[in-house]
Amino acid sequence: MIRTHNLGFPRIGKNRELKFALESYWRSEISQQKLLNIGQSLREQHWQLQGNLDFQPVGDFSFYDHVLDTSILVGNEPGRVNPDANTLDRLFQIARGQSQQNSTTCEHHCAAGEMTKWFDTNYHYIVPEIDNQTRFALHADNLLNQVREAKALNHNVKPVIVGPVTYLWLAKTKDETNKLSLLDDLVVVYEQLLIRLADEGVEWVQIDEPILVTELDPSWQHALKQAYFSLHKTPVKLLLTTYFGQLKDNLLLACELPVDGLHIDAITGFDEISKVVDWLSPLKVLSLGIINGRNIWKTDLNTTLDWLEPIATRLKDRLWLAPSCSLLHVPVDLTNEDCLDKEIKSWLAFAVQKIEELSVIAHALNYGRSSVASQLQHNAAAIASRQHSDRVHNPVVKTRSSEISNAMSQRQSDYKHRALTQKKRFKLPLFPTTTIGSFPQTNAIRQARKHYKNGQLNHSDYEQFIKSEIKHTIDIQEEIGLDVLVHGEAERNDMVEYFGQQLDGYAFTEFGWVQSYGSRCVKPPIIYGDISRPNPMTVAWACYAQSLSKKPVKGMLTGPVTMLNWSFVRDDQPRSQTCLQLALAIRDEVLDLEQAGISIIQIDEAALREGLPLRQSQWQQYLDWAVTSFKISANGVSDSTQIHTHMCYSEFNDIIDAIANMDADVITIETSRSDMELLDVFNEFNYPNDIGPGVYDIHSPNIPSVEQIVSLMTLAAERIDIEKLWLNPDCGLKTRGWDEVTPALKALVSASHSLRKTLTQ
Ligand code: GLN
Ligand code: ZN
Repeated sequence: MIRTHNLGFPRIGKNRELKFALESYWRSEISQQKLLNIGQSLREQHWQLQGNLDFQPVGDFSFYDHVLDTSILVGNEPGRVNPDANTLDRLFQIARGQSQQNSTTCEHHCAAGEMTKWFDTNYHYIVPEIDNQTRFALHADNLLNQVREAKALNHNVKPVIVGPVTYLWLAKTKDETNKLSLLDDLVVVYEQLLIRLADEGVEWVQIDEPILVTELDPSWQHALKQAYFSLHKTPVKLLLTTYFGQLKDNLLLACELPVDGLHIDAITGFDEISKVVDWLSPLKVLSLGIINGRNIWKTDLNTTLDWLEPIATRLKDRLWLAPSCSLLHVPVDLTNEDCLDKEIKSWLAFAVQKIEELSVIAHALNYGRSSVASQLQHNAAAIASRQHSDRVHNPVVKTRSSEISNAMSQRQSDYKHRALTQKKRFKLPLFPTTTIGSFPQTNAIRQARKHYKNGQLNHSDYEQFIKSEIKHTIDIQEEIGLDVLVHGEAERNDMVEYFGQQLDGYAFTEFGWVQSYGSRCVKPPIIYGDISRPNPMTVAWACYAQSLSKKPVKGMLTGPVTMLNWSFVRDDQPRSQTCLQLALAIRDEVLDLEQAGISIIQIDEAALREGLPLRQSQWQQYLDWAVTSFKISANGVSDSTQIHTHMCYSEFNDIIDAIANMDADVITIETSRSDMELLDVFNEFNYPNDIGPGVYDIHSPNIPSVEQIVSLMTLAAERIDIEKLWLNPDCGLKTRGWDEVTPALKALVSASHSLRKTLTQ
């Protein structure tokens, strides 16, 4: 019999129960016991939803993050955490910094742990901290209790843990500690854990080593051997799991590690399946991740069976089936999406539906396709409808993207020439001041948008409201004395959704939430078809804003790469193709803005960097199409129109070529927290265009002083020619209050005045 299992189920609950419970607990509105009960009931529901599988994952649930849970499991808590708090509160201290309700008990410095992206996903984990003092010790109670809980409900338990080598690889060292020098010590703790799990009657343990899909140097490859030769001796069977990509150079290693089974991602690693089938020892289980755990499309069950049946015949009992990776990265359940277009809904599968797909495939393999004939037929109909639907395929868009020429990505003249033209047009002072786009999103703004959406506010009243917000924002900027103004983005809830809703080819769900970190969830829109822009999206607001001021008001758009990277995208054409379609739609908007008299246009690419592939060897290919897409969106304008772009980060060291190649007239970036050192790379590269290094951190309520800004800009001026420097905050101001924003921007403007005097003498 072919067996089925799941690598992990989303934790947040169908209605984001976990989010609301966590936030209530953090506000001291519910007891810890209540929170624990909610967690337990979510786990029960999730196991039940996976009841048809042969194994149920245990340990995939987490109150915050599974990597942080692993840190607690192996006794690696930062020293600053209050030892008197109970385990869960210590966990929250590490995750969030000093928590409000515990402020009196937390005398230590309780800075939050660093958070970063889990491989190439939008899930963020808490980075384990290690140094040469780190000693590991097993704290297995939490995991063992969950194992008992699932067993009591008669589930066939398969604990899920992050492997020791991946754990160390994810960790950060504050000193020179060689991470791998801690491996032996860590492996001892894992051995103890596996013995404890065996004592609980566990047969199989899933141990995740996703680093196997990254470029590993020999010391890490060796570490994997070393760890698994030790863990092999424990009395459980290990299923080593890899996901998110191909094994490539690590394929032989993955096949040869002494474990009892290997899971590979059969979606991204499709081309490697037959090699793994050939190379894996006949004593080992092969688990194929055949259902895409990273997107929301239905699996083509019949086509999957076509290639899977011969493998099943060959491997028989040795074949297991699963989603490609944990389902953490997809929404929970499609069932209640009643507002979605019926045809589009019929093409989708969220976690619950993916588990059903898995069961159908296993059934077809174990009992013949005829045993699930009606399910297969339904699936075939949905797949065919998607393949042929004219909602998906728009011949006009296809023709247009096939006719994209090189010239479309080039400005009329090179930067030097444009800069002169623009200098004459704008006559901006040295150190021109501007902002990144959004201004405070007050309750009144959120209310108005909500009431407009649910019909409580009619169109013309809504329009009046937004206009009054724009006017207010322009007036304040005039009063403060900024040089390049913005309209403030009051009409936007989200920088991707706002545009997606106005583009053809985009769909939106009501409950399609995915965990981003802790209690934070995002609801990525779905790109289901060819993208086009039926009508201008921002022109009316931009023109209204410009009509209120003689100073230039920047048009404000989200770039194609960011639209792509923050959406669920089609799997029936390359990402690069979808990105080009987005680029054409944004280009239309850019040209309409220009035509309407908007002289400066900013195209945000907040998410360009995070789209980089896991393997550096594939970066260039991504950067090539990503940068081309940006340029197609931006570069149809005349020399006298100034293009800005903004990026919410500043690690440009390894991609500075690509950034320069984008050729935006002005780039604004996040730099304030690094004392401008991040500008070194622009300096060394001799970056030719203008730069606005963020001079204060908008994530903090602190209001910067004039002196702080002047001193940061003085540091910037040591690295960058002052003719090229702009003054602006790190990012948009939508999360701040007016009482913070107004004085901060006044300081920014005063700083520019003082710099103009001191640095030009
Ligand atoms: N223009 C956007 C804003 O100011 C940019 C946000 C972002 O880069 N994340 O809000
Ligand atoms: Zn930003």
